[in-house]
Amino acid sequence: MKKCYFCRGEIQEQPVDVIRKRKEPALSETKGQVFIIENVPALVCQRCGERYYTAEVARTMDEKIAEGMNKTKRIISVPILSFDADYEDWFTIVNQRHPEIV
Ligand SMILES: [Zn+2]
Repeated sequence: MKKCYFCRGEIQEQPVDVIRKRKEPALSETKGQVFIIENVPALVCQRCGERYYTAEVARTMDEKIAEGMNKTKRIISVPILSFDADYEDWFTIVNQRHPEIV
């Protein structure tokens, strides 16, 4: 069995929901549109949750997002939250506490 690249945890096949923002076409009004793709076959680390996709699955997700609204199963409304961090202070604090990261 394969191990997670990051934490060496066990990896298992399982379907996941993937949230993606549409990046193309750049000038389209659908740029930035958020899609949820359900039941994506993934390999998931049982320790840290990292997800791995085969190249074919990743390509299929890109194609589905490109097809966009034409293939929509249903539409839900999604609450948007903001972290509202003052990033200059936040990075200063992280740098002081965890200089190995920044
Ligand atoms: Zn892991």
